[in-house]
Amino acid sequence: MSTNRRNVLKSLGAGLAGSTLGTFGLAQPSHAEESATEEKYRRATKGLPPVKITNVKAIATQPKRANLVVVKVETDEPGLYGVGCATFTQRAHAVVSAIDDYLTPFCKGKIADNIEDIWQTAYQNSCWRNGPVLNNALSGLDQALWDIKGKRAGMPVYDLLGGKCKFAVDTYESCGGSSIEKVVEGVRKCKDEGFRYIKIQLGGYGSTALASQKPDFKAAGFGYENDSLMDSYAYLKGTRDMFAAVRKEIGDEIELVHDVHERVQPIDAINLCKDLEQYRPFFIEDPFSPENIGYFKMLREQSSVPIAMGELFNSPHEWLEPMVNRWYDFIRIHVSQIGGITPAMKVARLGEWFNVRTAWHGPSDVSPVGHVAQAHMDLAVWNFGIQESPNINEQERDVFPGSPRLENGYLYINEAPGLGIDVDEKEAAKYPIPEVDLNHWTQLRKRDGTPVRP
Ligand code: MG
Repeated sequence: MSTNRRNVLKSLGAGLAGSTLGTFGLAQPSHAEESATEEKYRRATKGLPPVKITNVKAIATQPKRANLVVVKVETDEPGLYGVGCATFTQRAHAVVSAIDDYLTPFCKGKIADNIEDIWQTAYQNSCWRNGPVLNNALSGLDQALWDIKGKRAGMPVYDLLGGKCKFAVDTYESCGGSSIEKVVEGVRKCKDEGFRYIKIQLGGYGSTALASQKPDFKAAGFGYENDSLMDSYAYLKGTRDMFAAVRKEIGDEIELVHDVHERVQPIDAINLCKDLEQYRPFFIEDPFSPENIGYFKMLREQSSVPIAMGELFNSPHEWLEPMVNRWYDFIRIHVSQIGGITPAMKVARLGEWFNVRTAWHGPSDVSPVGHVAQAHMDLAVWNFGIQESPNINEQERDVFPGSPRLENGYLYINEAPGLGIDVDEKEAAKYPIPEVDLNHWTQLRKRDGTPVRP
């Protein structure tokens, strides 16, 4: 704090002490106490005054196939900035607008050190809160502020969260295939690469690749060109057969995970979970859509298959009832979807009390910045379960220097202060996101043309 500013604050404090505060008889800190506090702050920040946010900007880029959005928060300390993931790949332009049009003016001039204060006030600033667009914008800001705090402290973010309780982050790799033989072949390859946890999917989510490509609704001229048929029978039978084949061919040593992706009727998902018990899945993900969470009680009464849930949840509050009732085993939150490290750590710590473990959502629509932010939490959280492994290509590594690396199935991050990852804006600009990018993989219909929720 500059001498001038300190003097101004002191005189303000003295004025208040003599008026309002004095009226209510509140004790004022003595001069000695005030000096001691200031001295502590100077020591903690190596003599630096509090840093203020001077700019918040969105950076949109598509170095692979997914639209990525990251936030850069700049401060009044030359060279000090932070980065955070704000990737909602299907609505990237809307997130960019939420950042540039609202968060930037909201944040300018605020003290970057006060993460909790900024998170809470930004969260409620639009009055109507939550939702993937606003939460992703908030996540970019939040993660960037943790990055800044780590850089100021000279510590990696995991140290600020309590320090490491494991040497690296164990991950699962995804193995999909258009036939059971291809899935088995993929699992064998992943195992040889050192992965101990492997996700298996047949014919894409909901096995849509196995379904008829000329369904009745298309023959009738109903729907649109990019619509796919969701054939529940093909998916449910194919998935049972796939688990049987993988266990028979690969054995029991590896852990298997599978994502239902909500696409079947809840009662069919319950029957599937019961049938898959014999193959000892590590977890079955998203058996129900968020609209159908009322079925969890029934599922738990009928099956002990471990359940991972929550990538579509917007609010951390959606976790409370399922967690205290122990309906799920794994927290499958998409961290940027709920607003960043600050709320995710609260859910993770809550999970410790109920023995619910973390399994942050980590596909290619999480930026390398987001993957790193998750890894910092994974390292620090005792009730860590597993991490979805990132698949980062060379172009992404050029855009995001300091990206994490995989070795023998473990994820390692750069140990630099803060998040330990950066964004090269010139490289990012080489890969602009498309002006119009409508999402087709969620466009599913039943045989008669009724839309299916993905
Ligand atoms: Mg999923």
